[in-house]
Amino acid sequence: MDKLIHYPMVIGEELVSTGSEDLVDPATGQVFATVALGSKADVDQAVGIAKQAQVTWATLSYGERSAALLKLCDALEAKSEELARLESQNSGKPLKLTVEGDIPFAIDNLRYFASVLRRQEGAAAGSYIGGYTSMIRREPIGVVGAITPWNYPFMMAIWKLGPALAAGNAVVIKPAPNTPVTTIELAKIALDSGFPAGLINVVTGGAEVGEAICTHPNTRMISFTGSTRTGKRIAELASPMVKRVTLELGGKAPFVVFADADVEAAAHGAVAASYVNSGQDCTAATRIYVQNEAFDQFLNRFIDLSKQVKVGNPFEEGTDIGPLVSETQRLKVKGYVEEARQQGIKVALGGELPESEGFYYPPTILVDAPEDSNCVREEIFGPVVVVNRFSDEAEAIKLANNTPYGLAGSVWTLNVQRAMRMSAAMECGTVWVNDHIPIASEMPHGGFKESGIGKDMSYYALEEYTVVKHVVFDNTGEQRKPWHAVVLGEAN
Ligand code: NAD
Repeated sequence: MDKLIHYPMVIGEELVSTGSEDLVDPATGQVFATVALGSKADVDQAVGIAKQAQVTWATLSYGERSAALLKLCDALEAKSEELARLESQNSGKPLKLTVEGDIPFAIDNLRYFASVLRRQEGAAAGSYIGGYTSMIRREPIGVVGAITPWNYPFMMAIWKLGPALAAGNAVVIKPAPNTPVTTIELAKIALDSGFPAGLINVVTGGAEVGEAICTHPNTRMISFTGSTRTGKRIAELASPMVKRVTLELGGKAPFVVFADADVEAAAHGAVAASYVNSGQDCTAATRIYVQNEAFDQFLNRFIDLSKQVKVGNPFEEGTDIGPLVSETQRLKVKGYVEEARQQGIKVALGGELPESEGFYYPPTILVDAPEDSNCVREEIFGPVVVVNRFSDEAEAIKLANNTPYGLAGSVWTLNVQRAMRMSAAMECGTVWVNDHIPIASEMPHGGFKESGIGKDMSYYALEEYTVVKHVVFDNTGEQRKPWHAVVLGEAN
């Protein structure tokens, strides 16, 4: 057997190969590479190096910082095909998704931050206090600890690195243990292309390494994307030192179809929104609510279109959705569907494991599930969607918001006023009208309620990675200012 490729950590300028864990190809279930396994000592070393590198990075002019990031974008773009292939092999995503979606979109995101850092916003300098000039500076935070999930490994890494680096910080990043490959490659490409060493450090491992990052005295901010459960733990770990946190957590997105919608468009939209990335997407449509009058028409068409989704090897042409990321994830998804079946919930499509190697799971549609059932309440994170009904707008709002999550949702209607009312009433960070999923580097992504705190992407994200400082200049040069009288009295 050929020797397996080994992926090391990247700490400062060094490739560090301590420890070894197997990486499994989700399409075959076979080990395809190994990855280093980091420890608390590696976190200590990485944070120390990042702290030093950050000091110099923060002194660069905005133009210089921007130029360095844009050069990194070019280097990543030159390797984008290779990155896409690695991402597909490591995570099971169809190649068309990584080639046309994840990798170019992430690079666009980094380019956006490289540009927008040159025009930072705040109140204009001026005499807010008589005789003084106030101005705003946006300072970097220092070393940012970033922790990412397995569903969009490269994209999530860039969503953290882009604003953090643009704002003048250094980063110690921990990818998910099972999908570290493209984050490691990103850091290696950065070093090879001359990006300053020590600004992007990758320490691999699981919860233990993540907790070491969160509790290290010199990580001043923790930027986390992952489950709500882990997000709550991160907030706990960060609180004793009052570290800043951004938490991009789970979702259970509603997809609300009114009878006055273009039902054919809604059915197409539902297929794309429910099964994208095999449903392992925090904004995926998971709770479809359809108004009674359009219910049968929508459901029949949705089932028809869902049957046409091709589940297959990520590298085969024509594959729409690949395997789930791991056997653990597949068993979790299977468990939710079996539980629903036992509760008498109708499985209108799918729900059976295919007899093939790899962690495949078919598009699955559950119908008329009680609102308190786990398949409606909890994140399944697979190609499984519930289709339920509602009678009027008030009920639609109630159902859409009937969840602890609040990341994203959509409303389908051709009535403009209704679309306006619904988009205001839905408690989620993104509301789409007559579509579901598209996002833009310039626009924010982040949740309401237990879907998190803070924003990824957009200028709002850049703000998250800066500390706002008020600098006050005396304009007059007088030794005794009028306000001194409150302490010294009039006489002195
Ligand atoms: P997860 O919470 O299990 O793990 C996420 C990361 O946290 C991994 O790197 C993991 O090793 C690390 N981790 C686990 N325990 C930790 C601890 N105690 N301390 C520090 N780090 C720890 O999530 P996952 O299963 O990898 O990813 C799927 C989840 O991510 C879903 O809930 C999904 O909705 C969410 N997600 C959210 C967004 C968003 O933008 N809101 C985007 C993508 C994924």
